[in-house]
Amino acid sequence: MPTKKPVRPDIGVWGQVRIEPGQAAETQITISESYSGMVLEVPVYVRRAPKPGPTVFVTGAVHGDEINGTGAIRNLIANPGFELATGALILIPVVNLIGFERHSRYLPDRRDLNRSFPGSTTGSLAGRQARAIMDAVVARSDFGIDLHTAAVRRTNFPNVRADTSDRRLSAFARAFGAELIVNSKGPRGSLRVAAMRRGCRTLVLEAGEVWKVEPTVVEYTLRGVRNCLVHLGMVEGDVEKPPYQMETDATKWIRARHGGFLRFHVAPGDIVERGDPIATNTTLFGEERSIISSPRGGVVLGMTTIPSVAPGDPICHLAFPKRGGLRRVERAQQNLPDESLYERTRDDLASGMLVRDAD
Ligand SMILES: [Zn+2]
Repeated sequence: MPTKKPVRPDIGVWGQVRIEPGQAAETQITISESYSGMVLEVPVYVRRAPKPGPTVFVTGAVHGDEINGTGAIRNLIANPGFELATGALILIPVVNLIGFERHSRYLPDRRDLNRSFPGSTTGSLAGRQARAIMDAVVARSDFGIDLHTAAVRRTNFPNVRADTSDRRLSAFARAFGAELIVNSKGPRGSLRVAAMRRGCRTLVLEAGEVWKVEPTVVEYTLRGVRNCLVHLGMVEGDVEKPPYQMETDATKWIRARHGGFLRFHVAPGDIVERGDPIATNTTLFGEERSIISSPRGGVVLGMTTIPSVAPGDPICHLAFPKRGGLRRVERAQQNLPDESLYERTRDDLASGMLVRDAD
């Protein structure tokens, strides 16, 4: 729950750069200095509508290797496909500049920037960068959309994470239009938790894989951002509703009990019933050793992309609906045309893995 309203810096004043209503401009935030003593600046794009209204930030690559969001934000800058009628957008393709330069989630001080918020001006390398983002971006914003992907060697069906106990954030998160909404407060030190505390209602999208810009994930993200702006009255039009929406706070990683090579039976976005096979664990010669099955009915939120596993390795991340919810999801999925964004996203995310029915 937001507690403090910060003193808000002017959305039109960024150091020497002035951005008038109706204008857009590139600017930057000084976040640190490099090992060679150069000033490190995060590029920021600000678009102001002709009329006043809410300010929304959209951030990518807070984890430096998670660049699906970067791809989507580049689109929002070059070709947004909407007219901003009120308020302002702060677009940051890469927040974790130093991690991004190394194709890494982490900073060179081995810290995770998304566990270092709100940070401080006298703290670690990560903490100082976090603080710079808080002061320049979060302090100016009413709402935030922070774009992430699954961690390395995993993929996620696009899903929104938000603290839905906050009524206005809950409405914002629903408006995004993801089929799957995971209700959670978020990890300590994350941008979204720190932003919430500063009164900036922020959701996270988890979608796709690291080191990729996946076309359907970008399309999904753009639809979601536009939906959120329509919801806030910043863009004219209607919110594009998803075929179904399932909100849950029950998710579980199914882990390998044995080492071996997996044959997958499900893909991200699929429905599983209780007892359905998720993967068959085999020897290197393909001989069946054990079948990993679903403990409950749910939707596949995320999966490993690497078929070789050791005991304890995560295989499949399931989201469990409330009682009776799965039937609704099933009905909605059955009626989906192949060319729907949901089906295309499902196909795309499964394209790099061999998925087939259990024997
Ligand atoms: Zn992330």
